[in-house]
Amino acid sequence: GETITVKSLAEKMRISAGEVIKKLMELGTLATINQEIDSDTATIVANEMGFEVQVKIELDKEAQLMMQEPEDDASNLKSRPPVVTIMGHVDHGKTSLLDAIRHANVTASEAGGITQHIGAYQVEHKGKKITFVDTPGHAAFTAMRARGAKVTDIAILVIAADDGVMPQTVEAINHARAAEVPIIVAVNKIDKPDADPEKVKRELTEYNLIPEEWGGDTIFVEVSAKERQNLTDLLEMILLVAEIGEYKANPSRTARGTVIEAELDKGRGPVATVLVQNGTLRVGDFIIAGVAYGKVRAMMDYTGRRVNKAGPSMPVEVLGFSAVPPAGELFYTVEDEKFGKQIIDERANKKREEELKLSAPKVSLDDLFNQ
Ligand code: GDP
Ligand code: MG
Repeated sequence: GETITVKSLAEKMRISAGEVIKKLMELGTLATINQEIDSDTATIVANEMGFEVQVKIELDKEAQLMMQEPEDDASNLKSRPPVVTIMGHVDHGKTSLLDAIRHANVTASEAGGITQHIGAYQVEHKGKKITFVDTPGHAAFTAMRARGAKVTDIAILVIAADDGVMPQTVEAINHARAAEVPIIVAVNKIDKPDADPEKVKRELTEYNLIPEEWGGDTIFVEVSAKERQNLTDLLEMILLVAEIGEYKANPSRTARGTVIEAELDKGRGPVATVLVQNGTLRVGDFIIAGVAYGKVRAMMDYTGRRVNKAGPSMPVEVLGFSAVPPAGELFYTVEDEKFGKQIIDERANKKREEELKLSAPKVSLDDLFNQ
């Protein structure tokens, strides 16, 4: 907490330090003139002397940043596309499903830009956009949640119809429940001869995911990522769930969101795929994420096309970061560049302190005496 020396407390009250020391003694505290006393004790002394005290707390920049985060007025909120993640056991077809949806929903002119893997993309179905985010794995999902990053609105639980519920299926269910997001079950690989979607449904009842036809309220869609079967049904169901969720954000404010993935590109420097979750990100904005910062030099949508701005739920590639920000880190844009750099300095210092603490040898009294 805050402290003050006896001397400066006396000076502020325009009385002698001796009087303060005497008062402290009456209160049971022995103090010298240069001693630091805590704000609670200083307040009691000052009150006793007939002064009112206001303790000024120096907020660190991080806290100031949080305080600058505006509350969104309901009138500024506009509906935004749902953000969907695909989760499930390894090899059940998460990547295949993401790719199948993406390829089934791009126009020929866009197709050139989407050959390489990207962490997030959007599709349009019946004039409505849906954002898909490829979570880099369940561990990263947990880390994101620990940082307070809530990226996804809807979880698609992929289960291979020839394999059924597996350990990471259960993990995914738990993650989605902890994040309080609705689950849509995609029973995948129904093209396989040994596919048994009914068995998957039976197994899932144990986890309280009960299909509508059995009196429950969980949406099941049977798909084949390989044969691109029933993908439209899946999109329909996502839009249905999104309608209930009424996801909203305020496009007319400074942007914030989450870094989905980032890497150092030889030619372009640090490149980060970010998901804008609130506000609008613009070229020229000063952006911070972890201890990385920069001015947004250029932005590309998931097809590689340059864009000048990105609104809520839009994933974009951002160029201009000073360093590679870690995936899962929250990003903010700040209007005052100097303030932004102060936050980064403060974070970097804290990080160094933590590292020092970790590397300092721990010596106990026992160690000292038993050498
Ligand atoms: P992930 O680990 O969950 O991302 O799974 P992948 O998308 O990498 O798929 C694992 C394997 O299953 C790959 O060999 C895919 O080709 C195959 N696969 C994925 N979806 C289907 C499907 O619908 N039908 C069939 N027959 N194979 C599939
Ligand atoms: Mg995969």
